Amino acid sequence: MSLPVGTSVEAFGWVKTRRDSKGISFVQVNDGSCFADLQVVVNENVIPADTLKAMTTGASVRMKGELVASPGTGQAVELLATEGELIGPADPATYPMQKKGASWEFLREIAHLRVRGNTFGAVFRVRNRAAYAIHKFFQDRRFAYIQTPIITASDCEGAGAMFAVSTNLTADHDGQYKLSDRDAATDFFGKPAYLTVSGQLEAETLALGLTNVYTFGPTFRAENSSTSRHLAEFWMIEPEMAFCSLEGDMNLAEEFLKEVIADVLENCADDLAFFNQRIEPELLQTLNHVSSAGFERMTYTEAIKLLESSGESFEFPVFWGADLQSEHERWITEKKVGRPVILTDYPKEIKAFYMRLNEDGKTVRAMDVLAPRIGEIIGGSQREERYDVLEARIKEAGLPAEPYWWYMDLRRYGSVPHAGFGLGFERLLMYLTGMKNIRDVIPFHRTPGSADF
Ligand code: ATP
Ligand code: MN
Repeated sequence: MSLPVGTSVEAFGWVKTRRDSKGISFVQVNDGSCFADLQVVVNENVIPADTLKAMTTGASVRMKGELVASPGTGQAVELLATEGELIGPADPATYPMQKKGASWEFLREIAHLRVRGNTFGAVFRVRNRAAYAIHKFFQDRRFAYIQTPIITASDCEGAGAMFAVSTNLTADHDGQYKLSDRDAATDFFGKPAYLTVSGQLEAETLALGLTNVYTFGPTFRAENSSTSRHLAEFWMIEPEMAFCSLEGDMNLAEEFLKEVIADVLENCADDLAFFNQRIEPELLQTLNHVSSAGFERMTYTEAIKLLESSGESFEFPVFWGADLQSEHERWITEKKVGRPVILTDYPKEIKAFYMRLNEDGKTVRAMDVLAPRIGEIIGGSQREERYDVLEARIKEAGLPAEPYWWYMDLRRYGSVPHAGFGLGFERLLMYLTGMKNIRDVIPFHRTPGSADF
């Protein structure tokens, strides 16, 4: 969206760089609204020399002038300044965001400033657009946006280790814990409470009344290992549909990925071009491919047969009943099929208790969407809507029946086939940007040993 030559403009932003040449200064200014900087040309004596000299990398400025055609390469127009004001200086002796080639680790330590650089500006613009595209996708289909609790007393399927929430345990500012009572019965909620690992079970209750719903909210898992794909606090999107089978669920997942990717390709073209050039050379190719290709569908059992006869030597063993590792998933989607794949009907032993049991008694109506370059991106299922079967599955999983009384009620009163899926927002962003560490697609990451800012 460029303004015509001759427009008078007042621009606010932060200085990326300044170059002085033969009495003329070229100041690159960016306010984070788009990838491209505004080049401001400052002729001699337009801005007092002291002020201009203080317009160093990181300083905030107001620039006023007229847009003129740019003789230089890299921009169609530039701002010919008639006025310039230094709003806030940034001492070049200490401003940390000016080193070229700073490591990702270093940039995480200055997460309050890294957003001013090209990469993180682009990451957070893509994050914003993707969030909007996700809401738009569901709102266009009349799904109701619901909010499920962040503090919960029910452990969803043991999806991950949970953070306990307690007022019995407090901490001093000097880092000493105080335990007033060990008994959860005297604690704030009168029973053990945790930060939620998934909103799914509550989303199911809302779907069995509103029909089509989705959550988009924070989720917490006390993942004890430091990987490049796990956060302790991440955002999850979980649609849930009543009167819906696994087929409808798969269709929605496929449409969802295609539409969100196409939206970001269209609306963040400059940012994605940057990622394609600097971060992940196959980015645009795979995103374009996923947004247009039909997704292949096959059962887990078929996938195991393909893997067994692949002739590949995998690190993890392949046999019926094994959980697929990312090397297996990537082989299927990249080498064997060459486009996204939806695998269905997994062995019940490796999936959650609430997934609908198939007639064979061995597999469940689960689906995983596998995408080239990363493997699993979405996991979902048709839910078990039969009271007796669900009751037996809870017992089989070794879970206590009591906390699930309300979940069972959904099967007791007006039960219907229903299905849904879950998608980690930051995993999607890693896919959209090509960023290799999940810590770099969220403004302030929470991981083992790290809760700064
Ligand atoms: P993984 O095997 O990668 O740990 P999972 O099987 O634990 O994933 P689910 O319980 O199915 O994942 O959670 C739904 C989605 O949430 C996953 O597909 C993934 O996109 C995302 N997710 C899960 N754990 C994390 C995490 N610790 N940080 C960020 N995203 C996560
Ligand atoms: Mn996990």
